[in-house]
Amino acid sequence: MKTKVLVTGGAGYIGSHVVRQLGEAGYDVVVYDNCSTGSPKAVLHGELIIGDLADTDRLYQVFAKHRFSAVLHFAASLIVPESVAHPLDYYSNNTRNTLNLLRCCHVLDVNQFIFSSTAAVYGEPEENPVTESTPTLPINPYGRSKLMSEWLIQDHSLASRMRYVTLRYFNVGGADPGGRLGQSLRNVTHLIAAACNAALKRQSEVKIFGTDFPTPDGTGIRDYIHVEDLASAHVDALRYLEAGGESQTLNCGYGKGYSVRQVIERVKAISGVDFPVIEAERRPGDPACVTACAEKISQVLGWQPQYNDLDTIVYTTLAWEMQQENLPSVTGNRQKLVLINKERP
Ligand code: UDP
Repeated sequence: MKTKVLVTGGAGYIGSHVVRQLGEAGYDVVVYDNCSTGSPKAVLHGELIIGDLADTDRLYQVFAKHRFSAVLHFAASLIVPESVAHPLDYYSNNTRNTLNLLRCCHVLDVNQFIFSSTAAVYGEPEENPVTESTPTLPINPYGRSKLMSEWLIQDHSLASRMRYVTLRYFNVGGADPGGRLGQSLRNVTHLIAAACNAALKRQSEVKIFGTDFPTPDGTGIRDYIHVEDLASAHVDALRYLEAGGESQTLNCGYGKGYSVRQVIERVKAISGVDFPVIEAERRPGDPACVTACAEKISQVLGWQPQYNDLDTIVYTTLAWEMQQENLPSVTGNRQKLVLINKERP
């Protein structure tokens, strides 16, 4: 019999990529998602239950019916400025809902838990690359709501048989190279999305938020990871827990940083569109540099990334978006995009 797992937030950007990989790996998947930002169309495998984690009766019924062997918990709010404006919503939707989920796990004896955390738990790290033992000092309600969730999971696991893998994501981008899944970039403010939106002429320019950081070119440095590699880390984490592995908290990045200017330059090169770039003030709360020490995840899970390349992140992002909009010829560097198209089933 197939192993049955619950994926909360499985209709969202990262969750949907994980659901597809879990399906391919032979798991029986039930997705629980309120579809507030995710889409039913993104659930390519298993059963979708449209429900909210705040609805504890419903959640309990789902647990009682299905008898999951593991839970992968993605459902969350994740926009930093929104978390500053509406902190209670973030503590409800992220922290309290994680508690709701853990209660169901406890009552129905689900003892394997995989949690989507974030590099935002580190705040403004004094040293890079960031290791898993770098102090966690989040600087906004989003990061704090996730760190509090981490603590709930840790404390519950210490008091029960539950084992967990918490994955702290760095900057996630890209789309399924097979063209089946991706993130709709409209209304997304992350750098790669903003630059791709400018290349697609949906916005007139890209702003560089801060050019006076203590980095080689003065702009912020981040560790960008392809969503397919992030997804495969979850499948590896599940197999690790199934094999009896002990609880772990692991960084999920490549360990290589790119500056804002470098990212913009690659989006211009791959799209072939020389969109305007404006130098602007720093965004409040943005650290200069955050990159992952990514050794532990490879050692513990045997994780082997396959798309460790900024160009691949950029061109799969653009290819997905062009496919959604039926835009065949926006790019000046067609070769790579044509290559992706050829790989599609
Ligand atoms: N950034 C930028 N212009 C944008 C969006 C982001 O200069 O339109 C910068 C931001 O200041 C940071 C980096 O790009 O240095 C990555 O920001 P993003 O919002 O993508 O992710 P974050 O690291 O904040 O989670």
